[in-house]
Amino acid sequence: MADLNPCPFCGDNAPLVLDGVREGFVKEGHPNRWFIGCQGCGAQTRYHRNSDVATRFWNRRAEPSGNLRASEQAPNDPQSGQEGA
Ligand SMILES: [Zn+2]
Repeated sequence: MADLNPCPFCGDNAPLVLDGVREGFVKEGHPNRWFIGCQGCGAQTRYHRNSDVATRFWNRRAEPSGNLRASEQAPNDPQSGQEGA
């Protein structure tokens, strides 16, 4: 399994891969039951169909010097090169 990055919100180093069925959030047989939860601040991802997808989703948000974060904060950044598709 891929490593989880620290929480992007509180820096907690021990986010967990959680099973939504085991946690009682979704019913057995639900196609998307896996998510990542931070023990520090309670941040969590949406539910995904497996733990690898959830991990990738978490790590994308948690990216340290964050392309995603930068683009969220500056959508009109002229250096992004986007043509407004
Ligand atoms: Zn956190």
